[in-house]
Amino acid sequence: MTTISTTSLLPASTEPDRNCPLCPRLAEFRAEARAKQPGWFNSPVDSFGDAEARLLIVGLAPGLQGANRTGRPFTGDYAGDLLYATLLEFGFAEGVYEARPDDGLRLVDCRISNAVRCVPPQNKPLPIEINTCRKFLAATIATMPRLRAIVLLGRIAHESTVKALGLRNAAAPFAHAAVHEAGNFRLYDSYHCSRYNTNTGVLTPKMFRDVFAQVRKDLG
Ligand code: SF4
Repeated sequence: MTTISTTSLLPASTEPDRNCPLCPRLAEFRAEARAKQPGWFNSPVDSFGDAEARLLIVGLAPGLQGANRTGRPFTGDYAGDLLYATLLEFGFAEGVYEARPDDGLRLVDCRISNAVRCVPPQNKPLPIEINTCRKFLAATIATMPRLRAIVLLGRIAHESTVKALGLRNAAAPFAHAAVHEAGNFRLYDSYHCSRYNTNTGVLTPKMFRDVFAQVRKDLG
């Protein structure tokens, strides 16, 4: 486990406007999606869960047919199946996950957000888009007064969160199951629970569960 020190965080708006223009490429992609699928959400996806939670999970970005369609992080695509099943298993969620934002699922002491709030083409945000959207991630972290544990799904979520905390990535390199102490927070790395990673065996359900077992053990 590495220990790194954080600089102070400056709170700003935690949720972007639904027509946020800051990333022109993503705004254009969003407009195209609205024209093609007017019944979909097709907007920046807000965080899900209570700001009083002690656990924050940071993913990469909304999936086109997942959160971009439904409007709730990780809801409606494969990654959500594994994530929500795991949260239910470790008591970070209650209810039944039915891949719909109105399924009644409730997060318990847990919040979910993304490093980039708008769906990017091919699930690949550009570095400038990751940098531009970081202010919303930083504000999300800064406005969670009880936050202690941050699970980072994949390298991009890891690196953007580390930067949002005012740290250098060299002091906290990404590795699956790595744990870093960062001031008041403990950062837990996991490979992203994407279909690609699970289909190729990069991430098994057990590897994923083990990360959350550690978080549960630490938070009590
Ligand atoms: S990714 Fe973030 S900063 Fe960029 S347009 Fe969407 S909400 Fe705005």
